[in-house]
Amino acid sequence: MEKAIFFSDFDGTITKKDVIEAIMSNFAPSHWEDIYTYLTEGKLDIDVGIRMMFNLLPCEKKEEIVNWCLENVEIRDGFNEFLLYLKEKNIPFVILSGGMDFYIYPLLKEYLPLIYKIHCNRFICKGGRMDVFFGYRCSKECKRNCGVCKPYIIQKYYKNYNLKFYAGDGITDLDACQYNDIIFSTGGFTEYLKEKKKRTINFETFYEIVNAMEEMERDINHENHL
Ligand SMILES: [Mg+2]
Ligand SMILES: [Zn+2]
Repeated sequence: MEKAIFFSDFDGTITKKDVIEAIMSNFAPSHWEDIYTYLTEGKLDIDVGIRMMFNLLPCEKKEEIVNWCLENVEIRDGFNEFLLYLKEKNIPFVILSGGMDFYIYPLLKEYLPLIYKIHCNRFICKGGRMDVFFGYRCSKECKRNCGVCKPYIIQKYYKNYNLKFYAGDGITDLDACQYNDIIFSTGGFTEYLKEKKKRTINFETFYEIVNAMEEMERDINHENHL
């Protein structure tokens, strides 16, 4: 029996939209957009860029931001059913996110019993400004200064799993993909992977992921009976 695991990005993958982008556009002064553009174009290291953005916000805004997220951030359809499906199949669900704990945990509160582990950045307050504590820095194989280094985490903590699923929506998921067997992608990331001739299964809702996994299981069972 194969030992399977499912990894997922958070922002824009579990949620319909990128939460950091939403927080910044509602709470930060407008030059956050320059930082964000540099980040997405790869002109700024991820760790530097994310600190620069959160430094724009005073710590006292934290509660207001969390409440705003709880009211405005939408989780993709079928997430609960997807988690129940994984539980039934004994497949642990692990979140690898370059986002921040202070909004991820409240947004996922009702789902936490079905989540095996969340690896993300930690919120700290420094001199009254929001700041980021990086718990998972890159190993020397990764040159991106990720903050939360997804390939590093997969290699260090989960290498004993021999069937790895991954869901993501952006460039920071790219390096993680090479350590995974089956990639689910959404948004512009699907096009990007297709251009690079990488195999990927596009999804909009988690129901589609469940369907695809059920289909794969049927195929495997069928092959075993031939
Ligand atoms: Mg994302
Ligand atoms: Zn890295």
